[in-house]
This record gives sequence, C-alpha cells and structure tokens, in this order.
Amino acid sequence: MKMMNCKDATRLMSERYERTLSLRERLALKVHTAMCRGCSNYGLHLDVLRLAARRLREGCEGGER
Ligand SMILES: [Zn+2]
Repeated sequence: MKMMNCKDATRLMSERYERTLSLRERLALKVHTAMCRGCSNYGLHLDVLRLAARRLREGCEGGER
C-alpha cells in the first residue's frame, strides 16, 4: 500500500470532522499516524482544539446557525 504523505494525512484529519471518510482513507490515515509521530501529535492537538472550540461555542449562549 502506498503511504500517504503528511499533507494528505493532516488534510484528512480535518476533513473527518466534516465528512465521513471512506474505509480506505481511514485505513491509510491510521497507518500513517501509527508511523508518523508528527501527524499522530497533530491529530491529538486537533481533537483538543476541536473540543475547546466546542466548549467555547457552547459557553456563549444562543445557538446561531
Ligand atoms: Zn505524517
């Protein structure tokens, strides 16, 4: 299997919040993050950021959108 590069990996990581990744994409991402420390860290940070952003939004009242 061809290993995806870091650029694709990080792109998929942010896309996975907006759409459902295909099995193949998820697999490739998993393989990449297992082998690439940078991207695995990036993924963790993204989760934390995502959570923090959601908390902030929920903290402000009013459900605009
Ligand atoms: Zn990487």
